[in-house]
Amino acid sequence: MAYLTLKNINKIYPNGFHAVHNFNLEMEKGEFIVFVGPSGCGKSTTLRMIAGLEDISNGDFMIDGRRANELGPRERGVAMVFQSYALYPQMTVYDNIAFGLELQGADEDYIDERVRSTARILGLTDYLDRLPRALSGGQRQRVAIGRAIIRKVGIFLMDEPLSNLDAKQRVTMRSEITQIHRETGATTIYVTHDQTEAMTMADRIVVMKEGYIQQVGTPRELYFSPANMFVAGFIGEPPMNFIRAAVKDGHIRIGDAVLDLSHKLGERLARCEGRELVFGFRPEAVRLGEHESSYVLHAEVELTEMLGDNTNVYIKMLGEQAILKVDPHDTPETDSAITFSVPYESVYLFDAETEQVI
Ligand code: ATP
Repeated sequence: MAYLTLKNINKIYPNGFHAVHNFNLEMEKGEFIVFVGPSGCGKSTTLRMIAGLEDISNGDFMIDGRRANELGPRERGVAMVFQSYALYPQMTVYDNIAFGLELQGADEDYIDERVRSTARILGLTDYLDRLPRALSGGQRQRVAIGRAIIRKVGIFLMDEPLSNLDAKQRVTMRSEITQIHRETGATTIYVTHDQTEAMTMADRIVVMKEGYIQQVGTPRELYFSPANMFVAGFIGEPPMNFIRAAVKDGHIRIGDAVLDLSHKLGERLARCEGRELVFGFRPEAVRLGEHESSYVLHAEVELTEMLGDNTNVYIKMLGEQAILKVDPHDTPETDSAITFSVPYESVYLFDAETEQVI
């Protein structure tokens, strides 16, 4: 049985705004789940309903098979880390971490042992006597995490915990949080708008848009088998290229180019006849030049960005723009004409109207 179950969860705010629609998800004990999506898609609202900080308008929330809709935050056994660290500025790191257990009236020796073992996990042992203002952003965020994990709770909730850190600190903290999750084994839900955080940290990702779940899956599933154009464009960097196309006489027509789609669609081809489609391919899936078992396309180079390990090539093809990611040694000249190949298996086709994958 699932450890956490959200069944047809909805949130309608008092002003009538319907922020979350029929959210369904089952989480196993110990899973690391990431809610990802653009600003305003309902990630925080859903997390706050799980935390008990926001009422659930309708639907069922179960913890370990027991209905939890009406339980208060403390009774749910959750700990939460917010974007703002919200540390007590006049208290040392030790006291900040100890605070939750002290409130519970825990035994002093037990608190001391827990503070020290938490500090060890977080690499904060040498900083226990410091005040928060004498710490870096990353260290402060670790104290905030320490405050949450010191109480041995079953559910750990994090809302954009890394957004106040610089790019380098974010990379470090990403792997530290994954490590802490491994050590504590707590079922974790992590909210972010950053697809890289989602891809690198999650066991499973929930992609949201405008209050609706778009897809739930492992990072691999979302990258290789996106359900729709939104997920395909959101997961992956640079994003997937989308080129408008139409199917006529069994072939795909992109402007003047005609591509035989039978490799891709097989028997489904007939059903696509006359339809407007979107031809999608990832920048990293292409190879320059003509290759077998691929769609061969021609384009003009508008701009190149050499990034060291690869070059992003901004191209114009058939009136549309796209990006190719190529080996830096093969960087083409700006304004030159290039030919590139997209392997059959790397092409995604979407219905132009519904934006669902075909
Ligand atoms: P962000 O990344 O910007 O925090 P989010 O995906 O977490 O975005 P939420 O904070 O869950 O989004 O908000 C979802 C929607 O609900 C937004 O359109 C927001 O304006 C709206 N909303 C949030 N709180 C309230 C409220 N108290 N009353 C009415 N609408 C609200």
